[in-house]
Amino acid sequence: MQMKNDAQVKFEKLAALDKKHFLHPSTSIKQHMENGPGFIFTEGEGIYLKDVRGRKLIDSLSSLWNVNIGHGRSELGQAAAEQISKLAFSSTFAGNSHEPVIELAKKVAEWAPGDLNTTFFTSGGSESNDTAFKTVRHYWKVKGQPNKTKIISRSLSYHGVAMGATSATGIEPFREFTTSLAQGFLYVDSTIESLKALIEKEGAENIAAFISEPIQGSGGVNPPSEGYFKEVRQICDENEILFIADEVICGFGRTGEKFGMDLFGVVPDIICMAKGISSGYAPIGGMVISDKIKNELMENYEGNFWHGYTYSGHPMCCAVALKNLEIIEKENMVENVRSMGEELQKGLKYLEETHAFMGNRRGVGLLGAIEFFKNEETKERYTEPVSAKVVAKALDRGLLGRSIVYGGQDTLAFAPPFCITKEEVETMISIIDDSIVEVKKEL
Ligand code: PLP
Repeated sequence: MQMKNDAQVKFEKLAALDKKHFLHPSTSIKQHMENGPGFIFTEGEGIYLKDVRGRKLIDSLSSLWNVNIGHGRSELGQAAAEQISKLAFSSTFAGNSHEPVIELAKKVAEWAPGDLNTTFFTSGGSESNDTAFKTVRHYWKVKGQPNKTKIISRSLSYHGVAMGATSATGIEPFREFTTSLAQGFLYVDSTIESLKALIEKEGAENIAAFISEPIQGSGGVNPPSEGYFKEVRQICDENEILFIADEVICGFGRTGEKFGMDLFGVVPDIICMAKGISSGYAPIGGMVISDKIKNELMENYEGNFWHGYTYSGHPMCCAVALKNLEIIEKENMVENVRSMGEELQKGLKYLEETHAFMGNRRGVGLLGAIEFFKNEETKERYTEPVSAKVVAKALDRGLLGRSIVYGGQDTLAFAPPFCITKEEVETMISIIDDSIVEVKKEL
């Protein structure tokens, strides 16, 4: 009989406890009880994650599109420890403040475009979007137009799982998970004609805001059509509709620009952010508002901004985010996103040319995707998604991948850490290449 090694024993012990006590996000409870956790991670360095059994995997999606600077940057740990030792927590309610939140708000204003100079902090993307929905409705109320309440979002958008954020999300399984959602959310496909028709139907006097990711992430890495956001900006201005950019994935360099909307030369009224501000080293997000919005709320309203999380501007999270942005700036990581983004696109082009059943390659910066078709011309798909099979084979070869199948697509998505090298991009592509060859034999 073969003896189990210590690592395997530890894995099994932890896996049993995980199954017994931990409810996983976005995971089938039934399947998890059958299969248990695939990996139990213990360490990370650069683009790699390591699990308790010593397996090293390329983290091709920066975990949840968030570990942008890469794993294992102990400077962020030091920043967290120093801040906690000095001041673990103090409230930012009732106008009190502390140094890291002030410094971070100033830093965000430096990164943000136009007159977006003021940040409300949250613990993540969902809270940031819910904050924005309440803020735009409050704004119109203050401006004497309380009927402007509806929020328009796009199909295949992902805005998170808080009540407002779920209600705005255009990926249906997230909305269908529960029964009643928040009121006043409208969905539109990604054409300008549909947006105009929706505004016409609902009446601009009833619409508070339009929300969109610059490039949709979880919905399949979907860039907009040429000129889309410029036109949306114009339509919003003509109809007095506020434009919210959900920059939770794109913000802070993922596309090779500071913010995703910079790609399209569009300045939104509100930016919602999270993930990249701290590269996932601490849970923090925020809503950045324009001076126009702030001035309106200041000049025409005496009451409180009746919205705030205990952890709005948590000192340790702010200190970690500041160190993260310092690293991105000092190490010219946004430039690396641009050059390695070209390598990633080259790699995807190679896959498309090598494997005739791949197509619809897309992306910008270190955000990319490619799809599988049974017949690309007729857009016919395989009954079972090929992308999921490729991800399974890639795992055997040391790559943690992401397959996206919402809306009938069959997509492989990539969003590796900003610190990735050319050799590492090539390794990633070559693992996918080999995995596809193997899957093809089984189709
Ligand atoms: N918005 C976008 C575009 C996202 O991708 C996500 C998360 O993936 C969210 C919002 C929700 O953020 P969080 O999971 O931090 O609440």
